[in-house]
Amino acid sequence: MPRSFELTIAVALGAVVGMTWPSGMVATLVGALVGAWAWLWWDARRAARLLCWLEEPRGASPARLGPLWEEVAMRARRAIKAANRKARKASARLQALLSAIQAAPNGIVLLDKQGCIEWCNLMAGVHLGFDARRDIGQRIRNLVRDPAFIAYLNRGDYAHPVEIDGRAARPGHPQHIAVQLFPYSKGRRLMLTRDVTTIELAEAMRRDFVANVSHEIRSPLTVITGFIETLQTLDLAPEERAHFLTLMQQQAQRMQRLVDDLLLLSRLEGSPLPDDSEQVGVHDWVAEAMTQALALSDVLHGGTQTLTVVEGPPVVVAGSRSELLSALGNLLSNAVRYGGSQGHIETGWRLRADGGLEVWVRDDGPGIAAEHLPRLTERFYRVDRSRSRDSGGTGLGLAIVKHVVQRHGGELGIDSTVGVGSTFRLGLPAARVRLDDSVSSARTGLPGTALETP
Ligand code: ADP
Repeated sequence: MPRSFELTIAVALGAVVGMTWPSGMVATLVGALVGAWAWLWWDARRAARLLCWLEEPRGASPARLGPLWEEVAMRARRAIKAANRKARKASARLQALLSAIQAAPNGIVLLDKQGCIEWCNLMAGVHLGFDARRDIGQRIRNLVRDPAFIAYLNRGDYAHPVEIDGRAARPGHPQHIAVQLFPYSKGRRLMLTRDVTTIELAEAMRRDFVANVSHEIRSPLTVITGFIETLQTLDLAPEERAHFLTLMQQQAQRMQRLVDDLLLLSRLEGSPLPDDSEQVGVHDWVAEAMTQALALSDVLHGGTQTLTVVEGPPVVVAGSRSELLSALGNLLSNAVRYGGSQGHIETGWRLRADGGLEVWVRDDGPGIAAEHLPRLTERFYRVDRSRSRDSGGTGLGLAIVKHVVQRHGGELGIDSTVGVGSTFRLGLPAARVRLDDSVSSARTGLPGTALETP
């Protein structure tokens, strides 16, 4: 029923009741007023019920409110539903955003005007050493007490990041965290943290590498330049000239070897991993490396060294022939160069219990002290500098070997005892190794047979 109609009926009813009183017109008026007041009171109760329901909506809508209030209730319900839907969506979006920020490798902290943490992700806590959940609301200057950070915070100039030690920093294990603040919205600040340890290490390695290469190239260049000046200024006898030219050639070859090794390393770093499209017979691989080692041994020691091959089962390896040859060639060349003129050098292969292949090179040379072993495969690391250079070493051989083996999913093992000798082992995984049925034992010799190579 429309409200105006309800009011009219209430007023009319009041007037009719008033008419029954003896005071006539006045009573009728009072009756009409009482009817109007009663309707207003009743309507106010309906409005109050509606307000109660709006505060805590239970059920579809409160019953018996009349058309207007029911319409208001229905519209309010729709509006509430739409607002709830929007709020749920916004909350889901916010959660997704926060999860994304949580997954970021960088730390993110939101600071209020007083410099207290309003929100932060877990990584910020990991970098700076506070509890990302418990320490919400704490002042950042009480949590991160590094003097460099406090000075940065006080300075107020946040154009560049400041670098501080991370929580995981220990003697020998540096951790550098770059922290930068970005002011936003009325005195608030966004703080970003980034672990720059590896970047700095890579940068330091790059600097070292460039310095090493320059040094390696400068030495032979200096020698060659000196000889050229000598040849230009002095009137030398033909045999002296020939001697100088031979020395110059040696230095040029040294530079050539260095450039070759550097190019090989950069190729190894830049090319895709070797797949199983190329199959390398271990017998041929070892034989070819051995031929090169024999030639080198002849040049350096005049054939006084003994080189032996201990053959294993006929095996084929899936990998890059040139890379594997270069790895074994480097190990044999080291054994020849450092093994001494009366040295015994043994190389061979065997199948390991796990199906992998082990190729070893053993010598009874001077051996290497234990403290050098962990650094031996670093680029340009040498135990004995002059001996390495004199024998044509570039300092990159074992770095190449390690790289090649790792590219094939294997590992390089080194055992050495000073005064006894060294053993280098190339281990290749079973997935790359299979027995070669096509090769007869007549060709390879029986597994484990020691063949002395002349
Ligand atoms: P280099 O070109 O100087 O031989 P490598 O990377 O091949 O460089 O070897 C690094 C260093 O390890 C060498 O300088 C040498 O001092 C030491 N080394 C390598 N192989 C042997 C070995 N068989 N016996 C003794 N020392 C070795």
